[in-house]
Amino acid sequence: MNFDEVREHFPIFKKLDKEGIIYLDNASTTQKPYEVINAVVDFYENHCSNVHRGVYRLGEEATEMFNHSRENIGNFIGAKDREIVFVRNTTEALNLLAYSLGSKLQEGDEIILSNSEHHSNIVPWQMLSERKKVKLRFLNSRHDEPISPEEVSNLISRKTKIVSLTECSNILGNINDMKPISKIAHDAGAIMIVDGAQSVPHMPVNAKDMNCDFLAFSGHKMMGPSGIGCLYGKEEALEELPPFMGGGEMIRTVTKAGFTCEDIPIKFEAGTPNIEGAIGFSAAVDFLRDLGMENVRNHEKDLIAYTLKMEENSGIKDLISYGTRNIENRAGIYAFNIGEIPKFDKENISSENLSVKVHAIHPHDLSSLADRTYGVELRSGHHCAMPMTEDLGVSATTRASYYVYNTREDVEKLFEALSASIKRFGF
Ligand code: PLP
Repeated sequence: MNFDEVREHFPIFKKLDKEGIIYLDNASTTQKPYEVINAVVDFYENHCSNVHRGVYRLGEEATEMFNHSRENIGNFIGAKDREIVFVRNTTEALNLLAYSLGSKLQEGDEIILSNSEHHSNIVPWQMLSERKKVKLRFLNSRHDEPISPEEVSNLISRKTKIVSLTECSNILGNINDMKPISKIAHDAGAIMIVDGAQSVPHMPVNAKDMNCDFLAFSGHKMMGPSGIGCLYGKEEALEELPPFMGGGEMIRTVTKAGFTCEDIPIKFEAGTPNIEGAIGFSAAVDFLRDLGMENVRNHEKDLIAYTLKMEENSGIKDLISYGTRNIENRAGIYAFNIGEIPKFDKENISSENLSVKVHAIHPHDLSSLADRTYGVELRSGHHCAMPMTEDLGVSATTRASYYVYNTREDVEKLFEALSASIKRFGF
């Protein structure tokens, strides 16, 4: 398959193209091709049954399809099927880790995070910190450069038990080189966790090569269904990890006195899993494999390079964008503001403060107008990355994010919409 024919695989584009809508919120979630939709429908129409239970034929078919999905997704990131735990999404994977790894931590232990993390890689650790009095230490990285291994080296110590960082920031688009960071974490005796929500869908990712202990990602951000995601864990790391939730499936034996756990990865999958989700996710992985992950990365590199070039030539006054401008380390994510949106200073409310005339267009206003009038769908707000938004010195940004079906024409439409919207605001 080549990139010119990709759009034909997505039923939604028949509708969106007719209505003149350009979808640019792929960091949030992605559209689904027929291949994924059909795989889910086929399961419901022909194989619907629970897994790992019945010895009847339907049950065996469903189990085989489910197991194949695990193997296929594992293969996609260079992992064994035993190392792939099905979860709902990246958020659940990170909560599982914060709970289960957290149960082994003690007061005074430290966890390293960065200021560009998504809330799902902050809040579970903050909850743990409240429970166990562990200390969270933040890398306060610049917005226009990826996280450097030196920054991690400077913060890490023997007290550090976990380093948990995103491979790609969902607000800046910066791609962090996780291999040297994993090494630094391991040399200090810490566990390395990688949030792959914005990397696994967009570039070749090999968990073994990166040598992380855990890697989390979501199906819906890579053309798969919602409600299914993966936690990769090194075999030995998963063996050691206590279970997260208890119930059916995850046990080997239960007596009134207690229980024993199933083998990995089932030990972490209590209850009936999202079988059709896993099957659809596996179909999405096939679709991506067919495109080739190097090609996916190059396609998005071209779109972001084109975006930065359009930005330079746009003549839009006071257009401020964030993230590194080195496209080798930049994903197809473009967050920006028209003018500076000052933070609302809650500590210092005065009539003078409130009456400051803001020479800016609020991202919510801009994205509403871009959508309603020009059909360009952008995301506005803090993008679940409030600490970085705060460090940018703003209360919100507008964000465009690309995927395999976006084109250079979409980027041109984005800048047309921005220029036209700005004029309407009399900017
Ligand atoms: N991590 C990053 C970097 C993200 O961009 C997101 C979602 O935008 C998440 C984690 C959370 O993903 P999910 O909502 O699928 O759990």
